[in-house]
Amino acid sequence: MSETLFDKIIRREIPADIVYEDDALLAFRDINPQAPVHVLFVPKRRIATLDDARGEDGTLLGRLLLAAAAYARAQGFAPNGYRLVVNCNADGGQTVFHLHVHLLAGRTMHWPPG
Ligand code: AMP
Repeated sequence: MSETLFDKIIRREIPADIVYEDDALLAFRDINPQAPVHVLFVPKRRIATLDDARGEDGTLLGRLLLAAAAYARAQGFAPNGYRLVVNCNADGGQTVFHLHVHLLAGRTMHWPPG
């Protein structure tokens, strides 16, 4: 799959409200937030969808989850809770084909999701 706007955000070619970065990951606020806090955790190495991830990507996927959890904890959301979401392909609601984890926090989430 070809690159997406997330590659341009990672290269700082388009602006984003970046809240976390390390050697492998970037996290920035979603432009269309669905909760008081809505942050996208993105691997710098592009994997289009979760369906494209393989065993060798396991460490990177684990780092995405741990970084999102650490951010939520640091922001004080862990005791009340929060939600992590990975949308995969059309029925999953994926619109940007660069794997990412949504962190949604700051309000009560509902189930089932829409
Ligand atoms: P998904 O639908 O799971 O692929 O999520 C893509 C997310 O990217 C959506 O929640 C969008 O609101 C968000 N998004 C799209 N463009 C930008 C942007 N330029 N900066 C930040 N978030 C964006």
